[in-house]
Amino acid sequence: MNIIVQKFGGTSVSTAENRIKVINKIKNAIKNGETPIVVVSAIGRKGMPYATDTLLSLLDDNFKEDNKLATDMLISCGELISTVTMSNDLLREGIESIPLTGGQAGIITNNNYNNASVINVHKERIISILKAKKIPVIAGFQGIDEDGFITTLGRGGSDTTASIIGAALNAKRIEIYTDVDGIMTADPRIVPDANLIDRIDYNEIFQFAEQGAKVVHPRAIEIAMRYNIPLMVKNTFTDCNGTMVKNKDKCFEVTNQKLITGITSSGDRVRIEIYKNNSVYNNILSILSSNLINIDLINIFPDHEVFTIAKKDLDAFDKLMKENNVEYTNIIGCSKISIIGTGMHDMPGVMANIVICLNRENINILQTADSNSTIWCLVEEKDNTNAIKALHKNFNL
Ligand code: ADP
Ligand code: MG
Repeated sequence: MNIIVQKFGGTSVSTAENRIKVINKIKNAIKNGETPIVVVSAIGRKGMPYATDTLLSLLDDNFKEDNKLATDMLISCGELISTVTMSNDLLREGIESIPLTGGQAGIITNNNYNNASVINVHKERIISILKAKKIPVIAGFQGIDEDGFITTLGRGGSDTTASIIGAALNAKRIEIYTDVDGIMTADPRIVPDANLIDRIDYNEIFQFAEQGAKVVHPRAIEIAMRYNIPLMVKNTFTDCNGTMVKNKDKCFEVTNQKLITGITSSGDRVRIEIYKNNSVYNNILSILSSNLINIDLINIFPDHEVFTIAKKDLDAFDKLMKENNVEYTNIIGCSKISIIGTGMHDMPGVMANIVICLNRENINILQTADSNSTIWCLVEEKDNTNAIKALHKNFNL
């Protein structure tokens, strides 16, 4: 049936004028002999009436914490509004479609409300809609659990919906439409002259997404990779070819020889340093993991250890340390910069180059770590923008 999934983000569906651009992308797919399944996010971004954050702001923090099921019921509404509105606008353009909730589209999840995982997709309804030559317009970010309660898939979850549907329906491609031309060498909001990455392999884009570039959700990439479905990131508002995400093949190697593919960052990190002067020193990491506090950039020395936690976990961390009589020092307001590129594997001197570049800019490096394809530098949040700009220029991205 030549199925493709086209997912449109919040900005893309935010106004009637923008939705015309969306419809043009759908029309183009039909013209090319493809059968599109459409997935939509909630209309607009923070501050707009039906955006997820606006809906969340209607609830008290303690209600949200204690009533996750009810919270999911509310925040699923943004996508429902978007779905029906999109269907309305498609009809205006002469295209028949059927708006569907996640549950109606057959998306079954576990009951981990607010951050549910998809466990099954009953695809029969979508197939019958396609057979009737209509377009399914599916509400992203949501499903239902086995008891029929509405669940949501976590922030950025509409991308996950697109990949899940693509995998279930054996789509030949998943297209993620957003407000930038594709995956860029850095967030264009930080580096306005960032360049488009025209092709990238799943592992690199996964690193990008996992380390802070919120352009595509890491779960969506993981699913596309597992099912080997090509994923494209494209701009709703331009005709740019966008970024193609695929497995690395030979042709890829020849055309993509850059040492560094791109740079991203994630903020709100807190650097923690603990000295070995307490009885639980050797158990601290397991105490943290059993209390679900994630840590990273871990460096363990004979007499002290250093790692970072998310700022949102600082209160819980502090409480745990007090309970265990552990003293620590912290630096609040750090940003973890990730310099990504499978091309740096086995290439000497990249870290040295980064250190020289940041020193030149008088940027204090608080910590580093590296893997085959990523180098991480922890800096103070105030230095984040300058560091990314300087590194971007330094590596000629
Ligand atoms: P949508 O609502 O369409 O899902 P998102 O806000 O989730 O859009 O993602 C798009 C945004 O991601 C862009 O506006 C851009 O500022 C940001 N972004 C961060 N890093 C990158 C990157 N490396 N390449 C492209 N966009 C990026
Ligand atoms: Mg998004």
